[in-house]
Amino acid sequence: MNFTFVTLFENLVSSYFDDSILKRAIEAKILSVAFYNPRDYAKNRFSKVDDYQAGGGAGLLLMPQPMFDALETIKQEDVDAYFVFASPVGKPFKQIDAKRLAQKKSIVFVCGRYEGIDERVVETYADEIFSIGDYVLTGGELASLVMCDSISRNIKGVLGNEESLQEESFEEGLLEAPSFSKPANYNDKVVPSEFLKGNHAKITSLKNEMSKMKTKYFRPDLFARIETRH
Ligand code: SAM
Repeated sequence: MNFTFVTLFENLVSSYFDDSILKRAIEAKILSVAFYNPRDYAKNRFSKVDDYQAGGGAGLLLMPQPMFDALETIKQEDVDAYFVFASPVGKPFKQIDAKRLAQKKSIVFVCGRYEGIDERVVETYADEIFSIGDYVLTGGELASLVMCDSISRNIKGVLGNEESLQEESFEEGLLEAPSFSKPANYNDKVVPSEFLKGNHAKITSLKNEMSKMKTKYFRPDLFARIETRH
């Protein structure tokens, strides 16, 4: 999979790939990362990429020309490019999207800045538009990295232990059950005794119950969906 980031701030994004799992995936040639800066495509004297909003309104927008030229260049160079825009007005990004997008060959994350991107750019190039939550960030870099990270986990070979994917939150529409490590007693805080007895069928059943309780408490919206399925 190739990830391309269209951003004015490459440094904000690139350092995320300098360590840990994604660094190893790049070294193993499972992932590659590229950057395009709209400013490099600006055709005006000061390489300006932003302008006032038509009809007024507070703040500036990423103007069409540098964005159109940058995205068109990518499209011409990469027939597999799939354009994902980060925006608070997009649909909520979910685990199911991460799994689906992990099957693509090449994803281009388009990161907005200022008050966003001229809508004509979005209309022309966006294959999908995602929000990572009901709050407003300063730019699309963090949102794109969030999506990139969770897509990467679902690409074969990126995680050392792919079994862990199957037991994670959201897989069965539930949150993951509480997990415990060693020692069994830490400062008088103990691991539930059933976890220590080695009866795996019982542990699985207990975890399943805990998973439901946790989902019901923290995410009644998810829990309601599970209930209607049964
Ligand atoms: N004026 C926009 C609005 O009210 O919807 C907000 C623009 S925001 C300051 C600048 C950029 O940050 C956006 O173009 C988008 O790329 C990114 N961004 C901000 N919040 C986001 C979110 N919740 N999900 C995805 N991207 C977000």
